[in-house]
Amino acid sequence: MEQKGSTKQIVYERIDILLPLAASALKKKDEKHAKRYVFLARKLSTRYNCRLDRTRRAKFCKGCGLPLVPGLNVKIRLRKRTKTAEYLCSCGCAVRFKY
Ligand SMILES: [Zn+2]
Repeated sequence: MEQKGSTKQIVYERIDILLPLAASALKKKDEKHAKRYVFLARKLSTRYNCRLDRTRRAKFCKGCGLPLVPGLNVKIRLRKRTKTAEYLCSCGCAVRFKY
């Protein structure tokens, strides 16, 4: 049990390194590497069965695999009636969160 927990901790640490890397790659207009970092982070989470929490899920798009960088390729909309925050990617995909 203990070992399993520490593996997950390492996975989360790696994901938390990969996602900012992806974002900074996209800021440099390096889409290829940005997608690669997101791909690696998602692969890690599926392989080790680590659920990504909302702050991590808000950092990339499921549709195109690009990191979501506010002010660059994502629009954040708040819908008061349904109480959801929408992260709209430039590809048309949206990630929604209840708040
Ligand atoms: Zn997208």
